Amino acid sequence: ANTNRDASGEAGTVGYSGAELEAAAEASTRTALEDALECALADVCGEACSGSAARALARRALRRAPKPQGWDYEFPAVRGLFMKLRAASAAAASTDTNTADTAARSTAVASITVRHAESEFGPSKEVTYATAHALASDVAGALEGVSAVLARVAVDERCVLLLTTTLQQERQRAMGRLPCAACGRFFNGYRGLRWHQQISHGENYAEAVAVAANASNMQLACAPHHERSATANALRARWEGTERERRARRLALPAGAAAARAGDCDALRGLAMASGGGADGWAFAAEQDCVHWAAGEGHVHALRVLIEEGGCAPDGVQRAAGSVGRTPLHWAARNGHVGALRYLCGDALDAADASVGRPKCNPNAATPDGTTPLMLAVWKGHRRAADYLISAGADLHALNRFGCNAAQWAAQAGDVGMCAWLRKRGLDMRVINHNGHSALHKAAQKQQREVCEWLVTKCGLGLEHMRPDSHDSSTPGDLARAEGATALADWLDEQRRTLAGGGTP
Ligand SMILES: [Zn+2]
Repeated sequence: ANTNRDASGEAGTVGYSGAELEAAAEASTRTALEDALECALADVCGEACSGSAARALARRALRRAPKPQGWDYEFPAVRGLFMKLRAASAAAASTDTNTADTAARSTAVASITVRHAESEFGPSKEVTYATAHALASDVAGALEGVSAVLARVAVDERCVLLLTTTLQQERQRAMGRLPCAACGRFFNGYRGLRWHQQISHGENYAEAVAVAANASNMQLACAPHHERSATANALRARWEGTERERRARRLALPAGAAAARAGDCDALRGLAMASGGGADGWAFAAEQDCVHWAAGEGHVHALRVLIEEGGCAPDGVQRAAGSVGRTPLHWAARNGHVGALRYLCGDALDAADASVGRPKCNPNAATPDGTTPLMLAVWKGHRRAADYLISAGADLHALNRFGCNAAQWAAQAGDVGMCAWLRKRGLDMRVINHNGHSALHKAAQKQQREVCEWLVTKCGLGLEHMRPDSHDSSTPGDLARAEGATALADWLDEQRRTLAGGGTP
């Protein structure tokens, strides 16, 4: 029979749902937090806030944080407590004839003094706080390390204590999120945290990489499953399951998009009929980016149904959340579907095809950041698609908003063949973008050694292409080193020294 106890003697998980276990864990966490707050308030405020007063305040003011992706509790009562104690000090000072001089009185009303009575732990003492923030910092300090349920305490500019529980930390960890030590928020994995370091904390690339790598290593170093309690493992399984469902929901396509992705023309027509036919019946297609899906999978027949029967725009901008402004042509180019490119650009599909009344998409239509279909075809190594786009009028020399041309896209992909082909067609491989990045920076950052060597030895990229960039003063060698490509970094640094005339040491 189940004993409902695991080896550690802790109440087991048998017979409890994940939701019940989590609710129980939440409840005990909250109680432990209230206890810790009560002790910290009494510790810091002494006679002014102890015993039942501290207990009541801890219970009343502790609240769940409004946003789920960071600290999970807040304690906003320290400022109010400071004001109350200051008012009491002021009242005491005004009736105290011994503090008649004005300076002493103004000090008394601008700050608070808390008294700790003599106890078995030590003599009485007095501490003065000039600001609510100083008081909040001391309460935060008193909280640190006293309770196993608390992982992190911080004080914000409103003097609110921001409390991250170990429960929250475990939950976020199970969902693949990493904490930012600087601000206490959680981010989606290594990339999310690295990006956050660069954007929100202004870290340079190498520092951001180091912080994110450190956080992921710490995550790996946490206790293995068999060393954790049954409850902790059950909760972890629950959170991991929740995260899997969330991702599956995000990946699940609405029916129209799924039909377009599958190239299922009958299903597309069926959906239009089910919605009443006519223009209104096809409204789903634009809402669900059906033309983009059909183009991205190279389904020319589905494209014809959507555009010629459904009246869908052939060059609409993708609508789905998180989209970066790509058109169907971008998707066909990115995935190398020449047939879809020909159709969208209005060319005959084969000798027997009349191509009358076809869409005439602009092959140079770019996303808001200036990314052209050609750049995506080059990036993903689709030589035939790139070739077709150029023949259809795509500008080989187009620059995006950052000043990159197709050479930088090919270089970061590590495709020497593509680089050589572009160069043969007359593309300038020596472009330096607005951040000071040459194709060599791009290749180095993606650890593409073959392209780096080709650019230096065959293409003549020199010192001016190896300069520290304007963004965070990284040379190609620095960028490779930040990604852990030490041998490549050494080689790049050596090239730089040699070209600078220093020779090798
Ligand atoms: Zn942060």
